[in-house]
Amino acid sequence: MTAKPETTSVHGDEPLRETTSLAPPIYQTSTFIANSPEDFGVMSTELHHQRNYARYGNPNHEQVETVLAKLEGAESALVTGSGMGAFSTMMLTFLSAGDHVVAQRIHYGGVIGFLEKMAKFGIRITFVDQTDPQAFEDAITPDTKVILIESPSNPTMHLTDVAAVAAIGKKHGVLTICDNTYATPINMRPIDMGVDIVWHSATKYLGGHHDLIAGAIAASKAHIDTIWKMSISVGASLNGFDSWLLLRGMRTLQLRVEKHNDNALAVAHALEQHPAVTAVYYPGLASHPQHALAQQQMSGFTGMLAFEVDTDPASADRFIHELQYGMLAASLGGIHTLVARPAAMLAGVVTEDEFAARGVSSRMIRMSVGLEDADDLIADLHTNLDKLQQHQPQA
Ligand code: PLP
Repeated sequence: MTAKPETTSVHGDEPLRETTSLAPPIYQTSTFIANSPEDFGVMSTELHHQRNYARYGNPNHEQVETVLAKLEGAESALVTGSGMGAFSTMMLTFLSAGDHVVAQRIHYGGVIGFLEKMAKFGIRITFVDQTDPQAFEDAITPDTKVILIESPSNPTMHLTDVAAVAAIGKKHGVLTICDNTYATPINMRPIDMGVDIVWHSATKYLGGHHDLIAGAIAASKAHIDTIWKMSISVGASLNGFDSWLLLRGMRTLQLRVEKHNDNALAVAHALEQHPAVTAVYYPGLASHPQHALAQQQMSGFTGMLAFEVDTDPASADRFIHELQYGMLAASLGGIHTLVARPAAMLAGVVTEDEFAARGVSSRMIRMSVGLEDADDLIADLHTNLDKLQQHQPQA
């Protein structure tokens, strides 16, 4: 019998054998006592889940990995010290000098930044329009080793046809790797659609409380074993306490994500109706150009959205600052509503033209809709949007 996600989140891990404690202890240790010198023997993938040295793994990791693998429909999983730790480890695992990557024009900024740095190792990247599956196929060369997918993408909420791109990867023997941070396995299961590897900034919805930094990867056992070997060389390991917190966050993943979905849909509808808002980007809205695809590949539309306001960037920043419930902060996917203007977050790093090429205007506001009451959030937004409108210079 396959358990539903709520059940998997609570019961998916093996209770730790040496304790009767229902909540697991935190393995706050850097090393474990060996039975004999042979325990340190040649590095074997078996050491991942044995008590050896905590950079290789610890029981808190194992519990999260077991639950996440089940939630994603994967054979195996690996936690890392951050989402970028997961991503960079995978790139170092699968790419060598001379290789080529097909990536989307719009990914989380840190991913684009890392890919651009790969040029010095002789790795070429082609960035394509993610809304067109054919663009991925057209970009493939004999050197292509990896296709990167992120859907919905941060911050523009563009979607990728995950099944179509996964099929292209299979046809050409190219690995497909999907960032499932925004959707979470509650709303979308890329592995079921043919993707090879799924990864997360577990800092976001999986943790869910803005109190940890972590990354996670789910895939076949063979892929995870290979990535794990690189991760222990890179030192991308997660600490025991954050791993413990992550498991606790994941216990309520389904409940939280459902409420994030409901709140974001209500907020998106309300924003659409306000005259100070010129555009709302949310895949759950009928007005989203890829709404049909969203309905096809997602069971919920996430707590993330973006919108544009009819004002100058300074007034947009004031609007954000004056929100009572929307905190101006980086990150997303947790209990508090967080609001940020992506162009301001990367000012000085990315030019306005580069932003425009990635579909981000200086008036775009990204909102991670939290777990507050939706009516409270909408009232707060409307009060401040009304103010924004009143302060507009008359034409
Ligand atoms: N992927 C997405 C979609 C993100 O939003 C982020 C961080 O904001 C990352 C990956 C990187 O994760 P981390 O900050 O945990 O390293």
